Amino acid sequence: MIYLDYQATTPLAPEAREAMLRWLDGPDGTGFANPHSPHALGRQAHAAIELARERVAGLFPAGGRVIFTGSATEAINLAIRGSAAGPSAISAIEHAAVRDTAMSMGDCRNLPVNSAGIVDAEVPIAEGTKLVAVMQVNNEIGTIQPVERLAQRATAMGALFLCDAVQGAGKLDAPRGADMIAISAHKFHGPKGVGALWLRDGLEISSMITGGGQEQGLRSGTLSPALIAGMGVAAQLAVERKNEDAAHVEQLWQRARECFSGWTLNGSEEQRWHGNLNLRREGVDVSRLMSDCRDIMFSAGSACASGSGRPSHVLKAIGLDDRAAKGSIRLGFGRYTTLDQIEDAANRINAAAAAQEV
Ligand code: PLP
Repeated sequence: MIYLDYQATTPLAPEAREAMLRWLDGPDGTGFANPHSPHALGRQAHAAIELARERVAGLFPAGGRVIFTGSATEAINLAIRGSAAGPSAISAIEHAAVRDTAMSMGDCRNLPVNSAGIVDAEVPIAEGTKLVAVMQVNNEIGTIQPVERLAQRATAMGALFLCDAVQGAGKLDAPRGADMIAISAHKFHGPKGVGALWLRDGLEISSMITGGGQEQGLRSGTLSPALIAGMGVAAQLAVERKNEDAAHVEQLWQRARECFSGWTLNGSEEQRWHGNLNLRREGVDVSRLMSDCRDIMFSAGSACASGSGRPSHVLKAIGLDDRAAKGSIRLGFGRYTTLDQIEDAANRINAAAAAQEV
C-alpha cells in the first residue's frame, strides 16, 4: 500500500499517538478524568489541555486566543456564524466548509481565481462587505493565496478576515493580519476529531453550541484531553520540523514532477505547496485508473474532497472543462512518504494510464 492522499488526511505522528495514550488510560489508569473537574485528576487533565493550547498557539500569529473545536469545519462554522458579520466575499476555490456556511448566511459573493488558481490580491471587493474569507493553501490544487494582502484590504474596508489555514498550518508561516484562522489536527499528523479556531485579541464572537460554557463560553462540551494533547504534540513537531519537512517535500516534488512528465499540472507550479500534485491527462478514465491501482491511495481530482460526488468547483474555477476535470488526479505526500514510493506509484499509475490509450 502506498499512501498519497495527504490533503485528505495525514498519518498520525507516533509522538502524537504516545501523548494521546496517557490521556486515554495512562500507565496507572488515571488518564480518563474530566478536564473540567476541580479534583486532582481533573486538574491534571486540564493542565494537559493548557499545555496543548500553548503548543497549538505556536501555529498562529502572536496576539490571539485558541478555541478548541471538534474539527476545522466546526471552527469555520463558529467563525462565520458566530461573527454574523453581514455580506461576505469568499474565494471561488474555498472548501465546502467555508462555501456552504457563508452561502447559508445570505449575501455571499465569489472572488474569482486566475487559471493558475490564485486570487488576485487586488481583486475588487464590493463595498459594504463585512466578512472576507480566503484560504491559505487550496486543498485540491495546493495553490498558495495572497492572504496577508487580502487581510490588510479587508481590515481597511472595515470587514473581518477569516483564513482557512487547514492545509498550510505547520507548513507555511501563520497568515498575518487575519481576524480568525481555522485549522485541523489531522492535516498535520495529529488525530481526527479536533480542530481550533484562533481569534485575534479583542474580537468577540457569539457561541454556536451552548451548555457548560467551556472554551471561554464559545464552545460548550467536555473537551477531550487525548485528542487535544495529540494535537498539541503534532503542532509542536510541525514547528520543530518545519524546515526539515519542507526540504523532504521538495525532494519528493522534484522526483514526482520527473516521474509524471506525461501529465499536465493543474494550478500554479511556483505559488503552491509542493506536497500537492494535481495532474491531468487527456482522455484518461480516472475511476478505471483508481481501480487498476487499488493499492495506491490517491484521489480523483474532479471529485469534491468532501466525497459528496459534486464536481470540483476548483477545477472549474481555473477554467477546466468537464473532460479535463474528469481526467485529473490528486496526489498528496509529505513527512512519511519515501522517494521509492513516489517512483513506484508513478510507474504503476503511468502504466495503467498508458494501457488505456492502446
Ligand atoms: N478546509 C480545508 C481546506 C480542508 O482541506 C478541510 C478538510 O478536508 C477542511 C477545511 C475541513 O477540515 P475538518 O476535516 O477538520 O473538518
